[in-house]
Formats: sequence, structure tokens, C-alpha cells
Amino acid sequence: MSSATVHSPGLDAADLIRRAGLRVTEPRRAVVEALRVSPHASAETVFRLVAASVPQTSLQSVYNALGDFADAGLVRRIEPAGRPGLFELRVADNHHHVICTGCGAVADVDCAVGEAPCLTPSETHGFAVHAAEVTYWGTCPDCTAAAIAAASATP
Ligand SMILES: [Zn+2]
Ligand SMILES: [Zn+2]
Repeated sequence: MSSATVHSPGLDAADLIRRAGLRVTEPRRAVVEALRVSPHASAETVFRLVAASVPQTSLQSVYNALGDFADAGLVRRIEPAGRPGLFELRVADNHHHVICTGCGAVADVDCAVGEAPCLTPSETHGFAVHAAEVTYWGTCPDCTAAAIAAASATP
């Protein structure tokens, strides 16, 4: 198990699936492994990773597995505006994301302040607010470095 794993590092993929109350299948196990390798992955990215280890898996079965996982609370789906939905194993906290407008790189950002919802709306309209989801858009270090290099290369 890699030290980079943020979600229940002691459990293998089959245990995670079983603990979510789902039946363990080869494609489902491969989907969990794919999300460990690529922590914010689109369904297409998951499919490409899964196809490398379980070649007979269809894109549809990857979608089905991700949908079942989301329903069971095993994965969280994030939907950055104008981009494909991304799936991650880090669930049950109210963390946010910073996304590069250049290359689409995604990183986790812990809650702004303490616990969910971590941001106080100026007006709740009577709603009991239990979560706040923030997407920070910006330029990642790689894209910033590339932009500086490109600028200094032009006379
Ligand atoms: Zn970037
Ligand atoms: Zn995340």
C-alpha cells in the first residue's frame, strides 16, 4: 500500500468495497485501485487505468461501478463547471479543490475554517446548511513556470 494513499490506507480495495456494502468484483476492485493511482479522475481516466489491468472491462461497467460507489458513499463525485465530473476516494470531509485553468491539474484544499460547512453564508434563506463546496480556479506551478519560460523566450 503506497504512503500516498489518503483513504483508509490499511484496507485493500476489496475490503473498502465490502465495507461499503457492495459485492466485490474484479472491475470494481480495479476502479478503486485506479482512484488510488489517480485521486481525482474522470470516468474516462478511470476506464483507461482499469483497461490496463482488466482488459475486458467496458466503459459502461466503469460508469456503473462509479455510480454504485457514489451511492454507497465510497467515492465522492465533484463537478467543476465546464469539465467532466471527477471521482475521488477521499469522502466524508468537507474538503475543497483548486483546479488549474491551464492543464486541469486538481489538488485538495482542506476546509477553510474548522468543520463543515466551514463557510458561513451571508443569508441561509432558512436552510440548515451542512456542507460548502468551493472550487478555487488558478494556475498551477507547472503552468506558471511554462508561462514564465515562454515569456522570457520571446524577445
Ligand atoms: Zn496547470
Ligand atoms: Zn479531493
